[in-house]
Amino acid sequence: MKKEGCCLYYSRKSPMDDVPEEMTPIWSCTNEKCNGWMRDNFVLSVQPRCGQCDSLMEKSERLLPVLTNTSPNQKKN
Ligand SMILES: [Zn+2]
Repeated sequence: MKKEGCCLYYSRKSPMDDVPEEMTPIWSCTNEKCNGWMRDNFVLSVQPRCGQCDSLMEKSERLLPVLTNTSPNQKKN
């Protein structure tokens, strides 16, 4: 009765450690009291509004993990 093998899962590097980061275009909330922001990838409208306070948003950049599985057409309700 061997009990080895339980450690195999931990011998590899976590996939999260390998995710590269890059400057990613985002939209950030213009409300100083709000820190809402969203990835430009997920913004469908030309001038999005903050999901938290409904203020206008302005284009910016952030250092974010690169997304590999982006879904091209997210539907908004
Ligand atoms: Zn906001």
